[in-house]
Amino acid sequence: MTIAQAVHDRADAFVRSPHKLLIGGRWIEAAAGETFATVDPATEKVLAEVGRGRAEDVDRAVRAARAAFADGSPWRRMTPSARGRLLWRIGDLLEEHVDELAMLETLDNGKPYTIALGDVRGAADLFRYMAGWPTKIEGATVPISSLAMPGEYLAYTQREPVGVVGQIIPWNYPLLMASWKLAPALACGCTVVLKPAEQTPLTALRLGQLLQEAGLPDGVVNIVTGFGDTGAALTAHADVDKVAFTGSTEVGKKIVEAAAGNLKRLTLELGGKSPIVVHADADLENAAVHAAGAIFYNQGQSCTAGSLLYVHRSVFDDVVGRVAEEAARLKVAPGTDPGADLGPLVSHEQFAKVLGYVDSGRAQGAEVVVGGHRVGDRGFFVEPTVLTNTTPGMSVVREEIFGPVVCAMPFDSLEEIVASANDTRFGLAAGVFTRDLSKAHRTARLLRAGTVWINTTYHVFDAAMPFGGYKESGWGREMGSQVLDNYLETKSVVTAL
Ligand code: ADP
Ligand code: MG
Repeated sequence: MTIAQAVHDRADAFVRSPHKLLIGGRWIEAAAGETFATVDPATEKVLAEVGRGRAEDVDRAVRAARAAFADGSPWRRMTPSARGRLLWRIGDLLEEHVDELAMLETLDNGKPYTIALGDVRGAADLFRYMAGWPTKIEGATVPISSLAMPGEYLAYTQREPVGVVGQIIPWNYPLLMASWKLAPALACGCTVVLKPAEQTPLTALRLGQLLQEAGLPDGVVNIVTGFGDTGAALTAHADVDKVAFTGSTEVGKKIVEAAAGNLKRLTLELGGKSPIVVHADADLENAAVHAAGAIFYNQGQSCTAGSLLYVHRSVFDDVVGRVAEEAARLKVAPGTDPGADLGPLVSHEQFAKVLGYVDSGRAQGAEVVVGGHRVGDRGFFVEPTVLTNTTPGMSVVREEIFGPVVCAMPFDSLEEIVASANDTRFGLAAGVFTRDLSKAHRTARLLRAGTVWINTTYHVFDAAMPFGGYKESGWGREMGSQVLDNYLETKSVVTAL
């Protein structure tokens, strides 16, 4: 594959345009006139300056979202059918601009262009899936008995949008996460203030233009770029009805506290430390290739990354050897290189953190089978890394590294492996490899995780499939029909006949 010059040019043109905040349908500078730089992690050079929103800007955006939500506004008057068509049109626009958006993502985030293409297609697909829902959000008529107040009644429920929603998203899948958040909120009729991650603001801003092009009324989606303090202002705001957050477990806990002020509704998609279990009877080649993909895809910067590899002792050396071979084969290069399997990590902070974890593992007695170093001397590139000799107490085993580093450990029995795999404060995802159907589903049943993949790669996601975490990996589910509950209230209406 080669990437056409026209694609570079289109992305460049957007990168070089001014990057302001979207509030009430207008692109405006931050109230204090501040900006911040977003960096290309492959070159370490500043890519663009972006408006730095603060509490005052958040407040303006919330007011715009509240006005757009008012009874009788164009958004509230829009029929469900028209809302569905608008969402479909957004999906179309994402697909029409797939190359440009993918290149923008690659420049801002570092990820390989081929992965970015998949992200944009996933985003388009989710808008289309959600386009079907506005016409199908129904209440029920309820046969009530009302023992204390006997009488003849007509009782029904009605689902209503929860109102003004604050959405705070991370840098690992910037456009995809923006879409996971926006599409269901819009399907339910909410209005939104979106806060992209400071490392990767560009695709959300381009999406903002496309939302306008699709015909979304002013103020329905507002975009305020900025840092953690901007997100904090949004979570603390008294006129925000709900916050949806994807990010670290640590920040998730701060958001829980901030949301207590007005008891806003909250959904959280947080960290993970996800196990893969390879039983002795598995197709070992299939297991090894997918185990490698589970950790190295997107440079290991996935909340679901398969970072703990548990392999039955009888096949441990075989499987770990194959994963290490795969790691050594993968090409680490700028995301704009069509042959890149891994791009750079997103930032210097993540780069230093990941290499720091590898060093701490080494110091505590882990063996580096392959990888463990920086690649080159410019850009935040890290080799795909396989560690063995790791033990449950080590920080590389307990904590989320969020980089291309997997800890491989042997096990002897199903009981033992389930206990080890569940011995984590997280519960986002897990993988199982075996040819024994019963063992596959027994293992899946025993694992305390929101998603379990059997004999297949991690990262199989679908707009129709709910996704979310057990334990400290979060509250609530995204995607599928379940996500709608996050953005709807239920009203019970009782009429005396
Ligand atoms: P990571 O550690 O992977 O960068 P974070 O959880 O720090 O993930 O960031 C995810 C998102 O949360 C980003 O958009 C970031 O700006 C935002 N954020 C960071 N701190 C806070 C906070 N205290 N309140 C609300 N949002 C925050
Ligand atoms: Mg950046």
